[in-house]
Amino acid sequence: MGAPPSNVDVRKVAVIGAGTMGSGIAQVCAQTGWETKLYDAFSDSLDRGFSTINEFWMKGISRGKNSEDEVKSWSKNLHRLENLEDALEGVDLVIEAVPEKIDLKRSIFAQIERYAPEDAILATNTSGLRISEIASATKCPERVVGMHFFNPVPLMELLEIIEHDLVSGETLEKAKEIGEAMGKTTIIVGDIPGFATSRLGVVLGNEAIRMLAEGVASASDIDTAMKLGYRHPMGPLELSDLVGLDVRRDILRNLAESFEDPSYLPHPLLDKLVDSGDLGRKTGRGIYVWTNEGKSERDDL
Ligand code: NAD
Repeated sequence: MGAPPSNVDVRKVAVIGAGTMGSGIAQVCAQTGWETKLYDAFSDSLDRGFSTINEFWMKGISRGKNSEDEVKSWSKNLHRLENLEDALEGVDLVIEAVPEKIDLKRSIFAQIERYAPEDAILATNTSGLRISEIASATKCPERVVGMHFFNPVPLMELLEIIEHDLVSGETLEKAKEIGEAMGKTTIIVGDIPGFATSRLGVVLGNEAIRMLAEGVASASDIDTAMKLGYRHPMGPLELSDLVGLDVRRDILRNLAESFEDPSYLPHPLLDKLVDSGDLGRKTGRGIYVWTNEGKSERDDL
């Protein structure tokens, strides 16, 4: 399950944000053999991130996908950090995975620039914000690049690398090598909000939510329609719950603002679910109810 060997010049990595994506990215960095420092501003998020990684590894052992020795060596590579300055000390690569809010990401990047070494690659895992807007919070936009991973990071093969006007060719090349070292297939995408994936993904999900609200079919029937009718591996509603309804809403709002197009705005049912704390799989309730046994339909939507 470890990534293939590579000569990429990375030894120490900081991952900023230990949520759904940050924990998955840190897991894969540790499996790649890099000393990985996982930082979050909230210690309960770090607790959850580490337990998600450990659960994944324990399942891998019980299913015979990896050995106890492998997991031991991966765990040794993974460190928990509650101080940003310490997390960034001596790293070759930083991958930011905090919530999809432009002001938050800009303020994190200004701090990253202050504490990370001058030659480190500074990557953001934004789903759809303009990379140039994040990069311009630093004085080194040539080192800032979009590296958009997919959920769950250890299993998903794609990595979108997003270029922008000020990124250097060297940074882009390195980002590609880093992605390949992590076992990913990379594509290069322009700096247009939503990139090649999120824009299509959220529009489909939002439309599926509109159809659910209009009573076109039940949630599981809408999902089955797309799985069997269009060969999607997962339906748009279960995928929205997996990604996180709050994450999807942020992306839709950002697209509506960037393109000045209200057709991207989240459907009121999506707003209602997020506002009531039903964020999807991570909170146990979203469009579906999620338990260890799987998902079931809600009758109150
Ligand atoms: P999440 O809510 O699961 O995790 C965000 C983490 O950031 C939380 O652990 C939170 O405690 C932490 N955080 C908040 N403020 C912070 C701060 N100031 N400093 C450090 N940590 C802070 O969100 P996520 O789903 O992991 O998404 C993170 C980013 O990845 C977003 O930009 C999102 O759009 C993008 N993304 C998400 C997915 C997905 O499927 N969920 C896929 C690709 C990209």
